[in-house]
Amino acid sequence: MNANTNTNINYQAIAKELAGMETISDRDRLTKLSLDYYHFSPILTEQLQDKRGELAIFPTTEEEIVRVAHTCVKHKIPLTVRGAGTGNYGQCIPLQGGIILDTAKMNQIKWLKPGIACVQPGVKMAAFDKKAREIGWELRMAPSTYRTASIGGFISGGSAGMGSVNYGQISDRGNLRRVRIVTLEAQPQVMELSGDEVQKVLHAYGTTGIITELEIALAPAYPWQEVIVVFADFMTAAKFGQALSDSNGIVKKLVSIHAAPITRYFAALQNYLPEGKHCALLMVSEYDFAPLQDLVREYQGEITYSKSASEAIKGTSLLEFTWNHTTLHARNVDSNLTYLQTFYFTLDRLEQLYQQAGDEIMIHLEFLRAGNKAVPAGLQLIRYTTEARLNEIIRNHESQGAFIANPHVYTIEDGGNKQIDPQKVAFKQKVDPYGLLNPGKMRGFSK
Ligand code: FAD
Repeated sequence: MNANTNTNINYQAIAKELAGMETISDRDRLTKLSLDYYHFSPILTEQLQDKRGELAIFPTTEEEIVRVAHTCVKHKIPLTVRGAGTGNYGQCIPLQGGIILDTAKMNQIKWLKPGIACVQPGVKMAAFDKKAREIGWELRMAPSTYRTASIGGFISGGSAGMGSVNYGQISDRGNLRRVRIVTLEAQPQVMELSGDEVQKVLHAYGTTGIITELEIALAPAYPWQEVIVVFADFMTAAKFGQALSDSNGIVKKLVSIHAAPITRYFAALQNYLPEGKHCALLMVSEYDFAPLQDLVREYQGEITYSKSASEAIKGTSLLEFTWNHTTLHARNVDSNLTYLQTFYFTLDRLEQLYQQAGDEIMIHLEFLRAGNKAVPAGLQLIRYTTEARLNEIIRNHESQGAFIANPHVYTIEDGGNKQIDPQKVAFKQKVDPYGLLNPGKMRGFSK
């Protein structure tokens, strides 16, 4: 039972009020539907592990979502939207109980054209790409949870992933074109936002409306070759990553660099990762493999693994060792490990922090486009001891000019944003005046 649960609500009666939609009230299933990957953080684990929703509901249409919104407003029931539940910061964990609205059945691709598509929020990213590739296009970017994550969940909770080396973050202008949302006003309504207005719901953890449809820009699809390159020296691997990310003539999608001993955690790749070496996990266009080989030679790397796109598609993709999957593999071996998310901005700053890392911090980089250049972003692994020490590590990075998007907090403002966004708060006042949407996640909002 959650501390803030409104115990006067009879959820059996609510389920009846919402007849015609699938609902779940079984405690075990509700536990699964209430949680995400918050346990990557020992701090969030303590804060969130006992939070549960009271009723899960699986609408299939926008009209049904409007009905749910009416019921929540009428009875003042908190409502938390859930995509696939792969978020890392307890984003879809209902802090105050209430209804979990699961979008799994809102999974239609409405239309798909070269360069752009319109989908319902529950469409799975990999399933979408399969369709889009039939016409030569694909998602501009996707997280390493690509096989399971929903597009709506990525828009509302994600930030970047494979493809970001070309297209930046999902919040970069142009990546998301239009959204339709259902509000929780006294009279819930359907609203459309386009252009810069979409920022009001982007990365808002579902606190500013329930997305029922969205239009996203696409990228041309290439046959992606998957390649592992190993290096004797970490900074050479990092410089190679920068050079590949900056190579105008080599089409790439993933540039992921790992300092030893992270490579030990990749059990399935051990044949390709000699002990003590540092590695680059890459996706490049098959047509550009020859120039990639030249670049590898220039940086004295060694290619130990190379799979053509058709081979890669059959097995486990290297994607599932990168981004936050690196943390997943490492934690499978040692559950005391946790992570940070860091913009180093420059290789010089990275080198400085690498020299200080010792055994406590293992550096993992993903290159992504920020503004007009590719930059190394860290998802470094940390041997966790105490919260005080973790905060000291964060302060140490910040004092040297790095930017930390703290993954050990559950509010929007305390993570990557760092500050209250007045535009988002004002929008929430309008569309959710009773504060029912994922309550507790937007610190700047008060009823
Ligand atoms: P959920 O976790 O279900 O939801 C995320 C947030 O969006 C929640 O606040 C939820 O309330 C809200 N939401 C969902 N649907 C809607 C909707 N229709 N309307 C309004 N709000 C909604 N993230 C990255 O950005 N890049 C990565 O590479 C990456 N790698 C990861 C690797 C691992 C191993 C794990 C565990 C997580 C990783 N993540 C990554 C985080 C997460 O997987 C992604 O952000 C993913 O896109 C979330 O999608 P989801 O469907 O699981 O969303």
